[in-house]
Amino acid sequence: MALRPISYTRANTPAEAVQMGAVSTPGEAAARVQFLGGGTQLLDLAKLDVIRPERLVDITRITDPVMTGIRRDANGLRLGALVTMREAAEHPDVMRDYPVMSESLWMGASQQIRNMGRLGGNVLQRTRCSYYRDTQWRCNKREPGSGCDALEGHNRWHAVLGTSETCIASYPGDWAVSLVALGATVDVLGQDGPRTMPFSDLHRDPGETPHLETNLRPGELITSFFVPAGPWTRRSLYVKVRDRASYEFGLATVACALDLDGEIVRAARLGLGGPVTRPWRLTGVEAALVGLPLNEANAAAAAELAFVGALPREHNAFRIPLAKATIVRALMAAKEIRP
Ligand code: SF4
Repeated sequence: MALRPISYTRANTPAEAVQMGAVSTPGEAAARVQFLGGGTQLLDLAKLDVIRPERLVDITRITDPVMTGIRRDANGLRLGALVTMREAAEHPDVMRDYPVMSESLWMGASQQIRNMGRLGGNVLQRTRCSYYRDTQWRCNKREPGSGCDALEGHNRWHAVLGTSETCIASYPGDWAVSLVALGATVDVLGQDGPRTMPFSDLHRDPGETPHLETNLRPGELITSFFVPAGPWTRRSLYVKVRDRASYEFGLATVACALDLDGEIVRAARLGLGGPVTRPWRLTGVEAALVGLPLNEANAAAAAELAFVGALPREHNAFRIPLAKATIVRALMAAKEIRP
């Protein structure tokens, strides 16, 4: 393989990074400019020839506290995009008041990757679809319009919710599932200035354009995340079911936060990961639980609503009952937490 030139620059401020990462045209050109944080995925995919960055903007020298700090107050929790996974997972405020966030980070990677990986990059991690990561296969996400060999291939790891006929890739992350459950927002900075969007709007379903994975505009940089306070954040947890207990992606994962009045559900916040194309909020399940006593029967009945409209393929139908059981398990375990 011929070596391809890559330019490398270092930014010292968020504004400098955005200036260095500016692109003149949207679309393909944007994919060729990448912000470099922990590099745990970018360098991996570049070595596999799956992505071909032409310009790297190193953002690890930025010291702006907006991007590097963790702050909690009465309104909620703010986490900078350059905070490492380890820093967030071990932060006392996060562990005490938002345990679902800490647990999803602990379960989301090895210690080595937690030491390097940054929160901003973590939410942008790419699918583990093996057809995407091996350039001998057809993949609409890697090469738009080329086809999708996963549709009729080995699709045990693929999604059943949010899919299209062009792509059934699942979203692999964990922390993002807790962000979507807790109604977080994400702050970004671009050529047009800063803006804030609901975290649930950051990722896109594949539709006809699976190569466009987020609603970030070309050259926009994630600067921080905000998780609002709520009476449910302390009674929260993350359940991850996987083939092995460590350093493995989830077959079904659930972020769960509860506000209970005795046995009665005042409010539930639920996120689903695994057989979904993006971090998935289970609003139907949440609504079905409100006002009911929390027991296995009511949890199981509510979990049935999670997969309305699901489209399983040859090898992944087992993930539907598995995920429903994981929802019930998460709810019953959260009930036992004494906040
Ligand atoms: Fe590519 Fe998506 Fe098909 Fe996987 S499922 S091969 S990522 S188009």
